[in-house]
Amino acid sequence: MDKDVATDHALGALTARPGGREDVMQQLSAVGSGAGGAGVFSQLFSNPFFTAGFGLAALGAAARYGSLGVRRGSELLRRRMLVDLEITKHDDSYHWILNWMTAQYQRQLLPVGKRRDLGTVQYLLRRLTPGLRHLQINTAKTKTPSGSEQTAFSLVPGHGRHILRYGNAFLLVNRERVGKSFDVNGQPFETISLTTLYYYRHIFEDIFREAHEMALQGTEGKTVIYTTRNMSWEQSGPPKRRRPFDSVVLEEGMSEKILADVQEFLHARTWYLDRGIPYRRGYLLHGPPGTGKTSFVQALAGKLDFNIAMLSLSQRGLTDDLLNHLLLNVPPKTVVLLEDADAAFSNRKQRDSEGYSGANVTYSGLLNALDGVASAEERVIFMTTNHIDRLDDALIRPGRIDMTVYLGNATEGQMAQLWDRFYAQHDVDGRGKQRFLANAQAADLIGNVSTAALQGLFLYNKDDVEGAIRLVSQLGKSPQST
Ligand code: ADP
Repeated sequence: MDKDVATDHALGALTARPGGREDVMQQLSAVGSGAGGAGVFSQLFSNPFFTAGFGLAALGAAARYGSLGVRRGSELLRRRMLVDLEITKHDDSYHWILNWMTAQYQRQLLPVGKRRDLGTVQYLLRRLTPGLRHLQINTAKTKTPSGSEQTAFSLVPGHGRHILRYGNAFLLVNRERVGKSFDVNGQPFETISLTTLYYYRHIFEDIFREAHEMALQGTEGKTVIYTTRNMSWEQSGPPKRRRPFDSVVLEEGMSEKILADVQEFLHARTWYLDRGIPYRRGYLLHGPPGTGKTSFVQALAGKLDFNIAMLSLSQRGLTDDLLNHLLLNVPPKTVVLLEDADAAFSNRKQRDSEGYSGANVTYSGLLNALDGVASAEERVIFMTTNHIDRLDDALIRPGRIDMTVYLGNATEGQMAQLWDRFYAQHDVDGRGKQRFLANAQAADLIGNVSTAALQGLFLYNKDDVEGAIRLVSQLGKSPQST
């Protein structure tokens, strides 16, 4: 560029500058003398448009880097100062923690109290604790042996974030669904994450211990009953009080014999594993309805401190694959009770003759499912049937059914024992019992009436010895006596 033109440009650009004529002349001389880059920079920086633009750009960059810095800083701070713990829905502790949160929340709902009693810090902490704002209801329906339906409700924290206080620490609890994923049972996949200050990281251990103890207390002295729902075992209602072992009256020595066999099996784990034999044992209880087959398994489970997984083989929609899946996924320390074992065999006969099946489990499906049960954990499987004649010999062989027990109608001994359970206090000298048994014999009821029917009579005549003695002869005529 021509030197004069360049000077003119520089002059034009610089005239607006408030430095005056001398400044301009200095700039010009710098440009004119070709003082190099330094001159160009000083010229640029003295340009108000340039400096304004540069300033804005610098501010923008500073803001951008600033916010990035703040984000990184807070991330770092979060990583350094906070600690997270994640629990997935498939972990046993998931439900314990949900219940623990509900209990914790209820504790926090206690009256705040007075500032002067608590001290300012405690008082403020209590006032500020927000607790759970969003709850979810869990409804569980169970069927009692009499067939009536019972419903139990429980409130658990819903999805979203909750803040809870534990001692002096605050916990952020986030219960959320993970994407749109579902587990094999079609249940949405969920997690709970607990976040607190790194300083309070030790509270996680305490929380889990407390939650576990709470869960144990809930089931202590109780039997959890699992039934099938959504293709898997699910707890059916709250745990039930254990049924006392001697409340089911079988023939002399029968209960003890079965109990001893199961106990021996439970103690023989290494014996089975060392020999490569599947660690399972099958029992078949058969006999007329109302003779205590189901009740005995419940009482036995209580005695062993086991839970029960119940399933009727005549249940509609139960396929061979589902049965197989269920038997392979029995919860730990759980006795399996497969009722109506004859259903699979009836299906076969029905299918053979009519090409139709009322239910879906087949005979070979049942055998395969039983044979497939191979687990390092013990598997105690009880089957019940009212029609042993319909079962195939292939089922009743060691490895599938190891012990077969007949539970029949009430013998004289069972009648006497049941009498004592109901009337021991009212019939101290036992004379009432003698009259009752004599009446039962006269009406030809010994061995011809079910224990369930007898129990019905005693319940009807609760605390009424004379009523039971008078009405016993009616049992023979009642439809219950089958
Ligand atoms: P099953 O499974 O043989 O049909 P359940 O166990 O369902 O019989 O018994 C039905 C009802 O009768 C239950 O309430 C149970 O308490 C009572 N019952 C039946 N048999 C006995 C028994 N041997 N001892 C005590 N109670 C019995």
